[in-house]
Amino acid sequence: MSDGDLVLIVEDNEKNMKLARDLLQYAGMRTLEATSAEDGIAIAVREHPDIVLMDIQLPGMDGIAALRKLREDDRTSGIPIVALTASVMQADRDRFEAAGFDAFMQKPVEVRTFAAEVRRLSAKGRNR
Ligand code: MN
Repeated sequence: MSDGDLVLIVEDNEKNMKLARDLLQYAGMRTLEATSAEDGIAIAVREHPDIVLMDIQLPGMDGIAALRKLREDDRTSGIPIVALTASVMQADRDRFEAAGFDAFMQKPVEVRTFAAEVRRLSAKGRNR
């Protein structure tokens, strides 16, 4: 298990965090967790995960601002970052894409496909 993809989950909802963590670990991936953007950025700099799953609505700094910080920093600019969003609105999806997320995933996550999708996005890497 120790060589599985390292996934940083930034999510302030405890139930969402637990589900994501359980699904990824069950699939052999390693997880890091942050419940705020600030903590997520610090962990990303320190641990250099293979991929970041970023909630948008967070206490304090939101996920879009966190994305910008991670992109500005040479230590984290190459890490694929996926927006986790409960929104199904196209305008929001367009906004996330314009902000520079590599992909987005819908919450609640699809239990059967979530881990495989995270692995695929991790292997694919940055969009540009
Ligand atoms: Mn949230």
